[in-house]
Amino acid sequence: MTDFLESFAPGLPEQAVAATPPPARRVWRHARVATLADASGWGLIERGAIVTEDARIAWVGAEADLPALGRAAIEEHDLGGALVTPGLIDAHTHLVYGGHRAHEFEMRLQGASYEDIAKAGGGIRSTVAATRAASEDDLFRVASRRLKTLRDGGVTTVEIKSGYGLSFEDEARCLRVARRLGQSGVTVRSTSLAAHALPPEFEGRADDYIAAVCQWLPKWHAEGLVDAVDAFCERIAFSPAQVGRVFETAQSLGLPVKLHAEQLSDSGGAELAARFKALSCDHLEFLGDAGIAAMRSAGTTAMLLPGAYHFLRETTLPPIAALRAAGVAMAVSTDHNPGTSPTLSLPLMIHLACVDFRLTPEEAVRGATVNAARALGLADRGTLAAGRRADFALWELEHPRELAYWFGHPTCRRTVVGAAADMPIPPAPGTALRPPRGPRAG
Ligand SMILES: [Zn+2]
Repeated sequence: MTDFLESFAPGLPEQAVAATPPPARRVWRHARVATLADASGWGLIERGAIVTEDARIAWVGAEADLPALGRAAIEEHDLGGALVTPGLIDAHTHLVYGGHRAHEFEMRLQGASYEDIAKAGGGIRSTVAATRAASEDDLFRVASRRLKTLRDGGVTTVEIKSGYGLSFEDEARCLRVARRLGQSGVTVRSTSLAAHALPPEFEGRADDYIAAVCQWLPKWHAEGLVDAVDAFCERIAFSPAQVGRVFETAQSLGLPVKLHAEQLSDSGGAELAARFKALSCDHLEFLGDAGIAAMRSAGTTAMLLPGAYHFLRETTLPPIAALRAAGVAMAVSTDHNPGTSPTLSLPLMIHLACVDFRLTPEEAVRGATVNAARALGLADRGTLAAGRRADFALWELEHPRELAYWFGHPTCRRTVVGAAADMPIPPAPGTALRPPRGPRAG
């Protein structure tokens, strides 16, 4: 039996997959498996095993019931009794950007207003300037370290939005970086968020900018850079009418939409998004009953982002009880971004979703697996069952409820993407969070 540790390929993620294609069939024994395969419950198998064929799961069950597999060409892995869950899915991130905004954070804690911060060159526009100043390779290098940190916390699928370029070429560069990151083994879904904020060169001309975005989208789509289209619908960003124009363009291209909606006020964004059968509406602190009803009938997932709620010291909670009562699926993601949620720990978000938003541990874990897959329109992952992708995470835990209980320290032992064991956890968690030094780090 091969020791699990021996199967790692050292080196960068891009090389790891290319250098060691997995054998056709693998057996992963000696695990406590939480399948999440039924509509409720953890689906816990005490002494479980998983059989994988190429990048798919062929069988999951009790080790005692393992089907006869034949001896040839089977690679066996002893998981040492680890808890195994579906790989986590981070379905809302802004992973590609230059610089960071720690100084702005410090100013805010010392009582500075948004105006003070804007005068000092802060806010989204400072990230746009740093992103535009960075080379594509710089953006890739920093984002790949962020992606590795996410993956080492159990993430095997991640959604990455553009939205800090805000010009045709700068947005395209960020989307290309997202595509490159998708060669690391972790599945990357790329979302155009060109309608994130108004770039300085369009000051006072929001309608003109939206018209430009509607002309750019078909070109990015033709280059194969876009899986979905997002927008920020808020009084400080774009109106429902402007977002509607972006969504009509997306619809004409056959691209699904999602929306940053009702984060700071109820602007009717969720109802607009539901009319376009949006995959998800995200944030939702100010979501009202009409929005909930619209999301329910459209089958739109509610994306909860407790990191931004925490970081901004918000006091209005998303309407969790009403969403639950309406049967709207709830997902949980990091919303990783430099301005309002600079976290790279999805397990920490599971914890915050329980403590701050009052989700049950099972709801929060489902929010980062099954329902996150749903929010990305991916039917082949999020649970451990025959036919699903062989993406799973191994934890130094005994029960999946502990994913919501412990917080602030790593509990993920390994991630396995497409049946390929991934690299070991990096030695110094702190270093992976910081962009490289130099003039471009902003
Ligand atoms: Zn966001």
